[in-house]
Amino acid sequence: MNITHPFLDSDGDKLREECGIFGVIGSPEAAAITALGLHALQHRGQEACGIVSWDGHEFFARRGLGHVAQVFADQTILNELPGHMASGHVRYSTTGGQGLRNVQPLHADLARGGFSIAHNGNISNAMHLKQELVDKGAIFQSSSDTEVIIHLIATSRYPTLLDRFVDALRMVEGAYSLICQTPKRMIACRDPLGIRPLVMGKIGDATVFASETVALDVVGAQFVREIEPGEIVEVRQDGRLTSHRPFGKHPPRPCIFEHVYFSRPDSVSGGQSVYEVRRKIGIELAREAPVEADLVVPVPDSGVPAAIGYAQESGIPFGLGIIRSHYVGRTFIQPSDGARHADVKRKHNANRALVEGKRIVLIDDSIVRGTTSMKIVQMMRDAGAAEVHFRVASPPTNNSCFYGVDTPERNKLLAARMDLAEMTKFIVADSLSFVSIDGLYRAVGEKSRNAACPQHCDACFTGDYPTKLTDLADRAAETDQLNLPVGKVA
Ligand code: AMP
Repeated sequence: MNITHPFLDSDGDKLREECGIFGVIGSPEAAAITALGLHALQHRGQEACGIVSWDGHEFFARRGLGHVAQVFADQTILNELPGHMASGHVRYSTTGGQGLRNVQPLHADLARGGFSIAHNGNISNAMHLKQELVDKGAIFQSSSDTEVIIHLIATSRYPTLLDRFVDALRMVEGAYSLICQTPKRMIACRDPLGIRPLVMGKIGDATVFASETVALDVVGAQFVREIEPGEIVEVRQDGRLTSHRPFGKHPPRPCIFEHVYFSRPDSVSGGQSVYEVRRKIGIELAREAPVEADLVVPVPDSGVPAAIGYAQESGIPFGLGIIRSHYVGRTFIQPSDGARHADVKRKHNANRALVEGKRIVLIDDSIVRGTTSMKIVQMMRDAGAAEVHFRVASPPTNNSCFYGVDTPERNKLLAARMDLAEMTKFIVADSLSFVSIDGLYRAVGEKSRNAACPQHCDACFTGDYPTKLTDLADRAAETDQLNLPVGKVA
């Protein structure tokens, strides 16, 4: 059997990993709170979700393909998830019959009892580790990189679960925020560089963990603090909390794309309001790339805060020149190219009355493949815009993400294939500009990007990957061709 690519699903599709995680311990309504928290994190993954609960004797699980509101549609389903502890996961996964086996939280019976794990991020040496485990006889149930962690814990020789957990994570490279459950406790942890987010809150006596603060707000929890990069927090059933830092101290590298696109604007990340950061990116963009125009139009919803900033700084009026249907999810998070194309039209429509005869500055958060931008520029022209100037609230996306944001292979990224003039022609804009990398760093509160030790993971823009990319290197060695990042790899 060919196991060279253990993370290719049966339909040959690579598993994408865009996820949100949530957990609560110490509440009689643990599953219901988790479902609500996941609902607030739905933007992080819309294809599947799951909840695992513990009632003091047994683990219960419910997973399904679809949105949280569909999978956890009524109280009877939540009644099947009893107990004071629960964790959940939303993900962007592949579709098809096999999809369900990859839906998290994953659960396994280990030597010391049940163990469930919900993972946000991507392990960049998962294939490598999986091959080693399979060679030793491990049998995998899923094609998810997260299952590797379970096998590493299961085969660790340390006596306690926590030691085994740390031992497993020491072998793993890449990005991981995890919420795990054992019969005695909930364990939340963030990788040593803190690439993916994870926050902690309190709701009464119960402790809550979530990918973003918006989920704390929605369940009525008070924000306590972020889980620190490299920190492992254990919370016991009686609420006692212990913090461990077994990985030493590293300069953190939280993902800057969370600010650009991925997080909800009403979340606070790294002490900064995501909305405010986006508005400030718009201000930077207006300073760096001014243009004479009549109307600043955001591509909704992702371009709205930056467009507000651009309008404020430039003095050009802001207007909703594009109206978005709220009955369609994120364009990008769809399984196939075909679905994505159809969705751009279903999702956005020009507001002709506002746009006609005007010189428009269109603002979006990012250009990835260029499909959305091209269609939206055309939409503005069809609605009678006199000129269309495109301004992007992030630098050119040049490189694939290997840490949990679904970007396509490098050869599909517009900015990796074309220079600025070619991109402008491709999207048929009158002009095109991206915010500079330093402009982006200023918007997140830094003076500039520290090239020697960047304050964030910005690999999608710079190619500067903060961890080894073992699987990518292995694959390159196998195929003699590499989807090579342009910058340096740690
Ligand atoms: P594209 O047509 O590929 O250039 O897509 C660009 C659009 O996708 C922008 O409007 C972004 O808001 C959105 N986008 C960018 N990155 C992602 C991502 N990783 N997941 C989902 N949507 C994204």
